[in-house]
Amino acid sequence: MTDTIAAISTTIGVGAISIIRVSGKDSIKIVNKIFEGKDLEKVDSHTIHYGNIKEKNEIIDEVLVTVMKSPKTFTTEDIVEINCHGGISTTNKVLEIVLNNGARLAEPGEFTKRAFLNGRIDLTQAESVMDLISSKSESKRKVAINGLNGYVGNIIRDLRQEILELLASIEVNIDYPEYDDAIVMTNDIIKPKIIEIKRKLSKIINESENGKILTTGIKTIIIGKPNVGKSSILNRLLDEEKAIVTDIEGTTRDTVEGSITINGVALNIIDTAGIRETEDVVEKLGVEKSLKLILEADLVILVLNNNEELSEEDEKILEACKEKKTIVVINKNDLERKINIEKIQYKNIIYTNTVDLGGIDSLKEKITELFNLNELEHEDYMYLSNVRQISLAKEANYILEEVEIGIENQVPVDMIEIDIKRAWEKLGEIIGETYDEELIDQLFSQFCLGK
Ligand code: GDP
Repeated sequence: MTDTIAAISTTIGVGAISIIRVSGKDSIKIVNKIFEGKDLEKVDSHTIHYGNIKEKNEIIDEVLVTVMKSPKTFTTEDIVEINCHGGISTTNKVLEIVLNNGARLAEPGEFTKRAFLNGRIDLTQAESVMDLISSKSESKRKVAINGLNGYVGNIIRDLRQEILELLASIEVNIDYPEYDDAIVMTNDIIKPKIIEIKRKLSKIINESENGKILTTGIKTIIIGKPNVGKSSILNRLLDEEKAIVTDIEGTTRDTVEGSITINGVALNIIDTAGIRETEDVVEKLGVEKSLKLILEADLVILVLNNNEELSEEDEKILEACKEKKTIVVINKNDLERKINIEKIQYKNIIYTNTVDLGGIDSLKEKITELFNLNELEHEDYMYLSNVRQISLAKEANYILEEVEIGIENQVPVDMIEIDIKRAWEKLGEIIGETYDEELIDQLFSQFCLGK
């Protein structure tokens, strides 16, 4: 990591200005070789200088050059940023000259990776950089900036500190049992501490899952046999004719996507082919895809026909959704009730129709209730912001659950300690305190070039 890297940090295209960023121990020396105007090796840190970029004796562009010396820079290394005129040819030419003079083209995300590896930011902050760049909504931006400011990392660090203190007291007991003034760490003393840590961690996980909903929306699938009214419900929700509504069974062969906003949260809806036994290959693909989509969805809207008895297929679908957050919609409630409702063992059941005005309002109300959408807006946007972070927090929580069970079963303290330490390490992975190199490479490779 001692080489000097360079990349174009602005979007490539026509624009007033482009920025070429150079980072590494030789960055000032390299740019100084091609810059005419001032000796950059003699200027103060965090200053900006006017001059020309030259190749041999030819002036390539008139530029402003910012010099930022280690360690107070984004990567903690010496950084030089060349502000040149925008446009593809000038920008590329300036970069080319920088590279010809000793810098290497940076990999995607390499500046941020260096900031992380040099201890300038933790992993949650690094991920927030990417989130901030890609954020398309105000709520996503708020979550990203809180992450970048390190609030999320601090929450995790505080929790780790609590666990560490607990580990330290256990270890004193194990290593120096003769110490009179150390409190003897029995399972009875450890248990309430573990319960308290678990409570805090669960709160973080819950809030983060709500936060995820705020930023990425609720992935929703509408599923049910053909002809029960899925497309009609979708259309009523979307208020536009995206899916073809027809009386012939099985016309909605693939997924139709659309998005509506309920209380500021995006409901990303995917319509599916009806589930049924079928010989039609195209349709079969749709059916298999539907089952897969159930697994991936945050919310399943399972539609049944009020006017028909439950069929074998209906029961199959009911079975397939039982582990999911599901709303069972008994549609066509304008028609006579023939459905054997007593067979449906679901908590969230609503009756709707797509004929009356306002017929599906109850569906929107149920979604609001199920995801607490009325209260979400008052949150403070401090969440674990992605699946990687949330799943590590869940793993840590799961380990703590095992610890609690172990304590109840009188497992010896030194065994309990091993698991507590595992939970501490899992939380460390969230902020990158412990990390796997491959994972880090993979994570940063998703960044854009020049960041
Ligand atoms: P899908 O195959 O599940 O997507 O069902 P469609 O939305 O294509 O609807 C099938 C048929 O049922 C169409 O003729 C709709 O007009 C009709 N339909 C949909 N919803 C209702 C409803 O609430 N009441 C009545 N009576 N008919 C409905």
